[in-house]
Formats: sequence, C-alpha cells, structure tokens
Amino acid sequence: MLITEAKRTPERSWLSEVSAAVLQQALADADRAYKNFFASLNGTRRGPRMGSPRFKRRTGAQSIRFTRNAKFAVLDSGRLRLPKIGELKVAWSRELPATPSSVTVSRTATNKYYASFVVAVEDGADMLEPLSDADAETGIDLGLKDFAVLRGGRTIDNPRFFRRSERKLRKAQREFSRKVTGSANKAKARAKVAKVHERIKDTRSDWVDKQIHRIVAENQGIYVEGLSVTGLSQGRAAKSVHDAAFGIFLSRLESKAARAGRTFVRVDRYFPSTRLCSDCGALTGPRGLEGLKVRIWACGCGATHDRDRNAELNIRREGKRLATLAAGLAER
Ligand SMILES: [Zn+2]
Repeated sequence: MLITEAKRTPERSWLSEVSAAVLQQALADADRAYKNFFASLNGTRRGPRMGSPRFKRRTGAQSIRFTRNAKFAVLDSGRLRLPKIGELKVAWSRELPATPSSVTVSRTATNKYYASFVVAVEDGADMLEPLSDADAETGIDLGLKDFAVLRGGRTIDNPRFFRRSERKLRKAQREFSRKVTGSANKAKARAKVAKVHERIKDTRSDWVDKQIHRIVAENQGIYVEGLSVTGLSQGRAAKSVHDAAFGIFLSRLESKAARAGRTFVRVDRYFPSTRLCSDCGALTGPRGLEGLKVRIWACGCGATHDRDRNAELNIRREGKRLATLAAGLAER
C-alpha cells in the first residue's frame, strides 16, 4: 500500500522505474530494523542494545539489492539480467559456486559499478586441516608502533601506505574545504576525496586479507585483545586509516578463523595484558598514555620484559584459558 501510494505522488513517481520487489525488500529491511530496535528496547532481544534505525549516510555510494523475488538471473552468456534494467555485461572476478540468492549492485563514489552475490556454500567448504602442534597458537597484541605482535615477537609492520594515505587524505580534505560550496570545483574536490578513500579501502582490504590468510594458515588457536579500536592513534586522518584497519582485521580474522575450524577468542578488553608480569602475575607493567612509550620494563620479581612480547604471551594464556573453559562447558 505504501509503495502504491508513494508512486502516485509526483515527487516519488520515479519509484515506478525500479522493480517493485526491490522496494518491498527495502520496506522489509526497515521493518526488521524497527522490530529489532523495539525488541531491544523492551528487553526481548538478547545481545547489545540496538540503536534506532537511521537513514543511510548520504555518501556518493549507492546500492540496490535484488532478491529472488525480483527475478534477477545470471545468463549462460555470463550477463546479468536485472528487472527493469536489462542485461548487463559483467567482468567476473570469480565463478559463482552455486545459484545466488541475491545480488547487490552498488555504485561507488567514483562511479564504478559492482555486483556482489549472496551464495550459500556447504558448511566446511573453507575448513582447513587441524594443526595438532602445541606451538601452533598465537596471541595478537595490536599496537601503534607495529601493527601487531605475534608469538615469539614476530611482528606485522605497519605498511608504509598507512602514512602515505593519511597524508593524501588530509591534503584532499583540505582542498575540499577550501572550495566554495556549490561550485563545480567543490564537486571536483569531493570526487577527489572519494577517490582517495576508495583507493585506501581497496589497498587496506588486500593487505588485511594477506595478513589474516597467514595467521589462520599457521595457527590452530588465535587469541586477540578485545580492544576498543577507536581512538588509539593520534590525528584525524590517522584515525581513519590505521584504526579502521584494526576493525576490519579483527572482524575478518574472526570469521575466517571460524570457517577454517580454528579457535578464536577475544580476551576481555579490560584484561591488563600490558601491565601483567607474565613471570609472577603482578601488575607491575607500564600503564596509561605515558606507558605507551615504554618498550622494555623490569618487574620487582627480577624479570625483564619486552612490552609487546609480554602482552602477547598474556593474551595467549588468557585466551587459551577461556577457550579451555568454553570447551569444558560445551562437554557438560
Ligand atoms: Zn614479575
């Protein structure tokens, strides 16, 4: 009813140009978002508090999702047929393993079009051979100096493009803010910012996938800090490039580990991984912002620690303890 009414108003008559199934889908999505929100408010939904549904952020990016109801089709010719749009030529990045249940077509801020498909694959398709070696476990200590410190002090360095991207982003943003609102130059500068963002996103995404691939291949147990990712680094551009990488690193690592059959545990974010002496268990390590500068410290018990290696060991032990605990509960 809402859709039919909306199409009748002149300002929204353009809705007729789109497949009705897509509009219904958008309403169904909004409906679910509100149901979740209200259920969260009155306590019938478990998990973290849900915020009220918000409008999609107005960025240059746009997307449209076709479900099976919308009758999209991947043709034998390799073209994608979309209702009310027609047949599209697709540059396939890979073969679809099964018939997709939906496709999302998105346009990036730089006017590139992508089609992403939802495909059900059999459970265990990404499963890896389990590693029985007791050493095939690592804690992951995320930081600023190195991106991450792994078992035995192995580090993942911050790639140079983090810095370079921050500089480029700052420059593009500065240019943008200098242009007159509404002018053609402002639009051009906006497109430039979008382009820099897109490039950073792609590069960062590739880089993160590479790091994760290796960690998951080499470790049966993966234990990470449940750190609050925002606001670790300094500066605004830095925040977007460096800290955002932590966010996607952790979430992708978690899902990839799960699919590969690896143990993945997030240690409580208040666990004092840096302050705890891994020899005697006393809280003698560096703390606070001042402590960020401390690389090596000595505990009263006589032990000397490399800050990050000590933190990694603590995270690994705590993660393993939690994993064993969870496994015990599952058995009971
Ligand atoms: Zn100690």
